[in-house]
Amino acid sequence: MIMPDIDPETDVPPDATPHVCDHCGQPFARETHLALHRGLEHASSLSSDERAAYEDAHEKEVEDLRRFRLLALAGLVALYFGFLMTYAVVT
Ligand SMILES: [Zn+2]
Repeated sequence: MIMPDIDPETDVPPDATPHVCDHCGQPFARETHLALHRGLEHASSLSSDERAAYEDAHEKEVEDLRRFRLLALAGLVALYFGFLMTYAVVT
């Protein structure tokens, strides 16, 4: 079994204000990233506020992924028909 890197190398600019995990000290650039990290890595020791923040962040992440998949599919369909029409005109 491959273990994930539990101590990734991070580089925080001096003027930045990172969101630091209370459990393991890992910094994150955004509050939603911290909420997702807490929900995935420290799920058993979350408060109700942290649980709610994780669920909100997870829901937004799922919506963003769904939107990305739809846009990617639309791009592929447009590319396909673009090549099809080009092929029909050129040959
Ligand atoms: Zn953590």
